[in-house]
This record gives sequence, C-alpha cells and structure tokens, in this order.
Amino acid sequence: MQLLDGKLISKEIKKEITEKVKSYKSKGLRAPNLVAVIVGEDPASQYYVNSKLKSCEQVGFDSENIILDASISEEELLLLVEKLNKDDNVDGYIIQLPLPNHINSEKVLQAIDPIKDVDGFHPENLGKLILGLDTFVPATPLGIIELIKRYDIPTDSKNVCVLGRSNIVGKPMSILLSQKAYPGNATVTLLHSRSKDLEKKLAEADIIIAAIGKPLFVKENMVKDGAVVIDVGINRIEDKTRKSGSRIVGDVDFDSVASKCSYITPVPGGVGLMTVSSLLLNTIKAYETRYGHK
Ligand code: NAP
Repeated sequence: MQLLDGKLISKEIKKEITEKVKSYKSKGLRAPNLVAVIVGEDPASQYYVNSKLKSCEQVGFDSENIILDASISEEELLLLVEKLNKDDNVDGYIIQLPLPNHINSEKVLQAIDPIKDVDGFHPENLGKLILGLDTFVPATPLGIIELIKRYDIPTDSKNVCVLGRSNIVGKPMSILLSQKAYPGNATVTLLHSRSKDLEKKLAEADIIIAAIGKPLFVKENMVKDGAVVIDVGINRIEDKTRKSGSRIVGDVDFDSVASKCSYITPVPGGVGLMTVSSLLLNTIKAYETRYGHK
C-alpha cells in the first residue's frame, strides 16, 4: 500500500507556484491577487479562509479578506461582487459558503465574473467542465485529479465509484473521470443515498472516491484488493484519548481498509491539503489568463 501524500504533493505544487510568482515579479509584474469574502462570523468559514490566505502568503500572492456583517443585504453583497468583477487588481475571488439564509447563494455565485471564479462554481465554468473545455475546476476535484496525475495512477478502463453527488465534489469528479482523456476514460458509477447495492458496487470498484460526510463509512468488506481509495470526508468524532476530546476522520475506515489498497489518502494529510493548493492553482491560472503569460 502506498499513501497518496497530500502534504508532499501540495508542497510540490506550492513550490512550483512560488517559482512562477518570483519569475513574474522579477519581470516587474504585480503578484497574483486573491480576495476571500466571508459573510457573518462562522468559525469554520473563518478557519478555512485563514488557511487559504496563509497559503497565498506562502507562495507570494497578494490577498485580502473581506469580512461582512451577517446582516448585509443580498443587494449590498451583489454590489461588492460587481466591484470585485471590475477591479483590475483582483485576479480571482471566492465567496465563502454557506451564506446567511436571507441571501440567495445561487444568485450571488452566478453574478461572479466567470474569469475570476476560482472556486469553479459558476454555471459557465461547470458547463465548460462537462464539455471538457479548459476552465476552473472546483478545488477539491482538481486536487484529486492532481493526486491521480502526480502518482501516475491509471484510470483508463477502470471501474470508478464516486460516493456522494454534491455539486462541489461528487458530480464534477464523476464527469472528470469519464472524460475522453487521461485522467479519465473510466467507467464511473455515481452513488448516493438512494443507490441500491451500494456495498456490492463499491466492492467491485478499482477506484473509490468517498465524499459523503459519514465518518468511517467505507469498511474493509466494501473495498476490493488492490483498489485505489481517495477519501474526501472531513468528520469530527469523539475521542476521549485526545486532549481536545475529538479527532478528525474521513469517510473511510482507514485502519481496516488501508492494507487492502494499492493507494489510499490519509485524513488528515490527503485531499484537504490538496484542496487549498488547487485554489492557488486556479488563482495563478486566472492571473496568467488575464495577462496572457501562459
Ligand atoms: P454533501 O453536500 O455533504 O452531500 C453528501 C452526499 O453524500 C450526498 O450526495 C448524499 O446523497 C450522499 N450520502 C449521504 N449519506 C449517504 C449514505 N449513507 N450512502 C450514500 N450516499 C450518502 O457533500 P460534500 O459537500 O461533497 O461533502 C462530503 C464530505 O466531504 C464532507 O465530510 C465534507 O466535509 C467533505 N469535504 C471535504 C473537502 C476537502 O477539502 N477535503 C471539500 C469538500 C467537502 P443524497 O444526494 O442522496 O442526499
């Protein structure tokens, strides 16, 4: 069994981006600039955004965190989106979800200029993804694709089960792996809470991508020998042996499954770190596209 080491690969990606930024700056160009917008004081949102902004700093990007009061109206938020769309010094920006209930998230996400949509959630970018055109791939699926590519994992003709059909992970992942080019050409089954014979289907898969948010759901009996298992889940469970009283686990029961796998991602240290470095990849892509540096 080999670990798919998200820490190692994201370090590698960050190093590559740092070199690019250095070279752009040495030519007198400004650094790529990412803006993160948070509405309200959700501690989880603040935690995620902080780690994204810290990574920006590590690679030499400029970044800004705009924190808005939870009471802001949808109209005011849309005005900010318009301002960010027009600002030539902003290459990409993210509106951290979830937004308060009185704001229509879809409306806000659709107002983002697709060329600055580094989260890849705009319908235009998702449409391009389906067509196999160059676009911003949402960060978590992009991180998984990078892991697959950088570990040279074969996908051609493989049976893949994607567990979970969210718009940000499961659905785009299923499309990417069924594209007619590497890392695709797989036969993909998208499983969800209404799927029949889920365990049997998982047990037949060459590659499993688990993204359902159910701690330790995928057990030994659901994984065939030699399978590649990619665990997207981030779940906090009680653990009285820890000082904090809890720990983070994935959707896969790593301890029982790992020895059967050819490759497996750890949690933490797998897909989560790749998600952050993928946002950096999308931001530098936005910058390069904008200035024609590619
Ligand atoms: P989500 O919106 O939470 O949706 C969960 C999906 O799993 C739904 O499609 C649901 O089916 C399916 N599901 C739930 N219970 C199931 C079961 N018992 N059997 C089969 N399918 C089941 O999904 P998400 O946002 O992709 O999040 C999934 C997990 O990934 C969470 O733990 C989240 O924290 C984590 N995550 C991690 C990263 C990262 O960077 N590592 C990024 C994003 C998300 P229905 O559609 O039928 O309801």
